[in-house]
Amino acid sequence: MNKDIATPIRTKEILNKYGFSFKKSLGQNFIIDPNILRNIVQHAHLTEESGAIEVGPGIGALTEHLARAAKKVVAFEIDQRLLPVLEDTLSPYNNVRVVHSDILKADVQSVIEQEMPDLKDIMVVANLPYYVTTPILIKLLTENLPIRGLVVMMQKEVADRITAQPGTKNYGSLSIAIQYYGTAEVAMIVPKTVFMPQPNVDSAVIRIIKHDQPPVKVITEEFFFEVTRASFAQRRKTILNNLQSGLTKGKEKKQYILDALESSGIDPSRRGETLSIEEFGKLADALYPYFF
Ligand code: SAM
Repeated sequence: MNKDIATPIRTKEILNKYGFSFKKSLGQNFIIDPNILRNIVQHAHLTEESGAIEVGPGIGALTEHLARAAKKVVAFEIDQRLLPVLEDTLSPYNNVRVVHSDILKADVQSVIEQEMPDLKDIMVVANLPYYVTTPILIKLLTENLPIRGLVVMMQKEVADRITAQPGTKNYGSLSIAIQYYGTAEVAMIVPKTVFMPQPNVDSAVIRIIKHDQPPVKVITEEFFFEVTRASFAQRRKTILNNLQSGLTKGKEKKQYILDALESSGIDPSRRGETLSIEEFGKLADALYPYFF
């Protein structure tokens, strides 16, 4: 087996060879501990027939572990300076394709069709650039991609919000936005010391396994998410007050909202953080006729 990229010595060697300087604005914190990478990959349950999509390969630390575990790896990297580095560090692996692109602008569906046409099991596995964690997750979950799920490292605080359950302080519209698409759990907590440079925040890896069907069937997803966002706009306000100020359209709103809350069996004095996804689904559908 080839020498791991993710040791402090080898990482420094590679950075020096290419005169590479980290860009904070691109969330460049590279992993320098192969054990962490092995654990991340294990949580993805890849087989020799799996495909792996990586966001932000950096110098290839996680990419090579994915290349060893999966049949094919496609890695999207925004920073052009890393392309020659990756060409060099990943040269021992013939099953990796690096795509020079901002993941948020990439046509991931087409890339999967081209690069992994026969693979039935595809996972996203990444140490995400923390400044764009949420947009990346939302993109990858809403584009209806043929993926089983995601195993991704992020800021611990965001991981706690994504995986939070109703009635807890971290539960909010982000928990619902992600849990609507999949079952999310924290797989591991990662210390700052395994990164170069060390980030200022704690990190966690979460695993999201996509649902076959959403947990609630709603009239429109867009309005469902609008209702959840409005319900959490001010956490100390009741659901009634938040909906009254948050939902923009509609006349005689208060009575409509009260009727919808009643028909959904939700006490108007409750706060958004106590409602389950199912309750939000019922409420959004009950409100829908009044607003459209
Ligand atoms: N995978 C490497 C590792 O674990 O050591 C690097 C992870 S580092 C936290 C994030 C990587 O994402 C960097 O290589 C950065 O250049 C890249 N990146 C940042 N924004 C990106 C974007 N919008 N699209 C694709 N890659 C991006």
